[in-house]
Amino acid sequence: FLTEHFTKYVDYNFTARLEDDLDAISRGEKQWVPLMKEFWGPFKALVVEKDESVQRKDVTHEAIEDKCPDCGGPLSIRLGRNGRFIGCDSYPDCKYTRNLDENGEIEEPEIIEDRKCPKCESALIIKRGRYGKFIGCTGYPDCRHIEPLEKPVDTKVLCPECSQANLLKRKSRNGKIFYSCANYPKCKYAIWNEPLAEICPDCNWPILSIKTTKRRGTEKVCPQKECKFSEPYEVDEPSSDD
Ligand SMILES: [Zn+2]
Ligand SMILES: [Zn+2]
Ligand SMILES: [Zn+2]
Ligand SMILES: [Zn+2]
Repeated sequence: FLTEHFTKYVDYNFTARLEDDLDAISRGEKQWVPLMKEFWGPFKALVVEKDESVQRKDVTHEAIEDKCPDCGGPLSIRLGRNGRFIGCDSYPDCKYTRNLDENGEIEEPEIIEDRKCPKCESALIIKRGRYGKFIGCTGYPDCRHIEPLEKPVDTKVLCPECSQANLLKRKSRNGKIFYSCANYPKCKYAIWNEPLAEICPDCNWPILSIKTTKRRGTEKVCPQKECKFSEPYEVDEPSSDD
């Protein structure tokens, strides 16, 4: 069907040329709108002429079940200069693409077994966006619930700055652990050391933190820079409830 009616538009070289043009646009050498007119103008006309019921996506792409993580639209497998890849059907409005896995297969989204979406009760899956992996709802785009892959852990220690939310254990982008207020971005309080719900005996700051150094071992210290309080910290037996 494809080769019979739309040779020019599914032609390998044509796809390659379109990609070259897109590269040129991203470098600012070519204008977007004229290119799209050049591409879609005659293409649309041809489709309408051949069969009005033919959908653009049926003609050019092999549809897959996954939804676009950027716009929620359907995705399909396309043929590019470097082989097959997954692209969004809303192209050119949405430019989402991702590669097929090493075997040229569609990567199945990983389902989070023990949890449901807190907003709509649908299954949660690990998605891959342009900034890396995250947890998303399978009800997308009706439900836009997303959360980071590393779920922040509640330390149960009240933020000493705003006293309105607890401090959460988080992982920074480069993997370093830190503790920040659950009220972020309203409250920007954050510390590197694990917080303790104990009032500093020297300055009355509402929390202390646990700091371990090679030289001094594990100590309770005051997170306030101007306060020099520190005291040796005896590590308790690990409690059974965490
Ligand atoms: Zn999209
Ligand atoms: Zn949901
Ligand atoms: Zn706070
Ligand atoms: Zn202090």
